[in-house]
This record gives sequence, C-alpha cells and structure tokens, in this order.
Amino acid sequence: MGKKNLMNSYTKFNVNFEKGIGTRVYDSEGKEYLDFIAGLAVNCLGHCHPAIVKALDEQSKKLIHVSNLYWTSPQIELAEKLVALSDHDTVFFCNSGSEANEAAIKIARKYGKLTGDMEKYEIITMENSFHGRTLGALAIMGQKKYKKDFMPLMEGVKSVKFNDIGDLKEKVSEKTCGVIIEPMQGRCIKIAHIEFLMEAKKLCEEYNALLIFDEVQCGIGRTGDLFAYKSFGVIPDVVCLAKGLGGGFPIGAVLANEKSSIFKPGDHGSTFGGNPLGCAVSLAVLKELTENKVLEGVKKKEAIFKEGIEKLAAKYNFIKKIGGKGLILGLHLNINNNMVIIRAFEKGLLLIGAGNNVIKIAPPLNITEDEINKGLKILEEVFQEL
Ligand SMILES: *Cc1c(COP(=O)(O)O)cnc(C)c1O
Repeated sequence: MGKKNLMNSYTKFNVNFEKGIGTRVYDSEGKEYLDFIAGLAVNCLGHCHPAIVKALDEQSKKLIHVSNLYWTSPQIELAEKLVALSDHDTVFFCNSGSEANEAAIKIARKYGKLTGDMEKYEIITMENSFHGRTLGALAIMGQKKYKKDFMPLMEGVKSVKFNDIGDLKEKVSEKTCGVIIEPMQGRCIKIAHIEFLMEAKKLCEEYNALLIFDEVQCGIGRTGDLFAYKSFGVIPDVVCLAKGLGGGFPIGAVLANEKSSIFKPGDHGSTFGGNPLGCAVSLAVLKELTENKVLEGVKKKEAIFKEGIEKLAAKYNFIKKIGGKGLILGLHLNINNNMVIIRAFEKGLLLIGAGNNVIKIAPPLNITEDEINKGLKILEEVFQEL
C-alpha cells in the first residue's frame, strides 16, 4: 500500500529484495537471483562484501559526519590514495555521479573565466552521452528524451557526434572551456576510439580547454584498469567518479590535475561530501580492488563472457554481437530486449536493457567463473524458449 507514497519516477520490477551476498540477492520470499547488474554498475565487490561491512561497522562507531569545516583522517587518506593511484593532484568529494559532473562543469566554467574572455564558456558534449539527472548534468547530456520536459536548460553547450573527429574539430574553438566525454558510453555501450580521445586531448591543449572524462560508470575497475582513461592511454585533466567508488555506499569524487585545481574557498561545496563514513568505505573498496587481484580478474572474466556469448550467437540468429569492454558488456540483439530481460528475471537472473535492443551486463567485478557460466546458462534457457 505504501508504494503509492513514492513518486512515480521509476518503472520497477515486481520484487522486494531483502538481502544480498556476493553476486546473489534474495527477495522477501527467499528466491535467489544472480545479479548481473550490480546495482547499476555500483556494487563492484558484490553485495555486503566483508571489507565494506567491516569499514562501515568500525567507522560508524567512531565518526559519521562533521561537515567540511573540519579535517577528518578518512577523507585525507582517501584523497591521498586517489591521487597516488591516478595522474591527478587534487580531489573534490560529493555524493553522486551527477554531482561529480556538476562540479566538473563549474571547474571548466571557472577555468574559462580565468584563462579567457567572457566568451570562453562553451562545454562540448557527445551525442548519446549520459551525465546524470540534475539540471547542469542534463544540460550537457546528449539525449533529448531526458531533457525535453525541463527546458530551458543551461546554455553554452555544443553537441558532437561521438567518435567523429571532423565534427569535434569543427565545434571546439577559443570559446570552449571544457570537453566532456565518457570513454565508454554506459547507456549504449559504445567505446570511444583512442584516436578520437587523442584528438580531443590535442584540441583541448590547442584551445586551452579542459578535457573531462565522465568515468562515473566505466571507472573504478569496470574496464579492467582502476581508471578507464588508463585503458585508453589518454590522460584527461578532470575525472568524474561515483558508482563503484563506494561499492554501494553513496560517494562521488572529481579528480583534477594541477591546472584544473582552481576551486577556492566559497566556489563550491557539499554538506555531506567526503564524510568520514563514505570515505572509510571507499578506502576499503580501493584496497580490495588494487591489493587483492580483483582488477586482474576483470579481463579474464570479459573473455569468458565473450566466448560464452559468441557460442550462443552461433546458435541463435537474433544475437548480433557482444560489445563493450571489461565488465560492462552489451549483448546486441536484433529483437526487442524487454522479453529477454523479463524472462531472465523470472528465472532468477538480473539484467538491464540499454536502448531497445541491447542487454547490458555489468556484474560485480569479483563474480566467479561458475557464476558467469550459471548466468549464461539461464540466458540460453531464455533464448531457447523465445
Ligand atoms: C550513473 C551515471 C551518472 C549519474 O550518476 P548519479 O549517481 O545517478 O547521479 C553520470 N554519468 C554517468 C556516465 C553515469 O553512468
């Protein structure tokens, strides 16, 4: 009954989840589901990983929140760790992916003011990109359907065809303060071409604009490297992180190199951003990912998935191909994905659609080989019955 008290902003599956462990979640009737979505590419260590539970338990008994008026050790340590692991110098903490992008937009706009004239405020964004639901993030998002009811949005945004070097060259100018790219577009599982990213970097240097990578989804190990930009070999000025960063606990971050570390007191803020609880959890997540060989396993698991799906594709002609990288994979079909997702759900496999014809697979990074094979078997049963 209480369901009607929630704003109707999501179409939900008819299930009430109660607990989770590793790659498995259980509903209120005790039915088990294999989770190939991981809370929308968030639960990188699966559900209720002991390292996360321990960090939450220990830190919650010490200090949960004091605001950014004061120093806390977990925040300092997490910033130190992110700087050590990346090619960047400073970190701003927030609570979500949208907020990370909002901060990046403000950094770019301020950079334009500091280095150019009043006209240097344009942000270049990619068609089909997804950057979040807040108004700034919507303004730079390259998908009209999410924006149309909320116009007018922030001005000074130009859209470029993804991977189209010619279009990019045409749109970047002296007016550009920032170029924002998802190295891997999460909504449609499209991978940026390395040459395109290199050209973006070159143009940003030439026109003195900031290159921003939205790694909210593809960062934190999804591609097999801790940061997606490392998988592509192109270092951006600014990196936006969230989703996997807290392994399920809400935390976002913006990494900035020296020239984009321009915020001064008063420029930006977040009441909850960088709270000791979130930072302690994120430290535990990063430790687990980097010290316990989770990242090394990602490329091997990608290969197992791809091999398994290619075998299915040889049998079922409605499977076109498997795309994606690391553990964000897209199963491209030439039929509508909805029936597949619903049938898989009924059989205890959680999947998500990307557009109408792609099935997205983004399991916990520590998924086991057995679990991959079990999920692929369920998929095959679904395909058999179609
Ligand atoms: C999910 C996502 C966002 C938005 O993150 P929220 O935490 O929902 O605000 C932004 N960018 C990308 C690439 C995402 O996948």
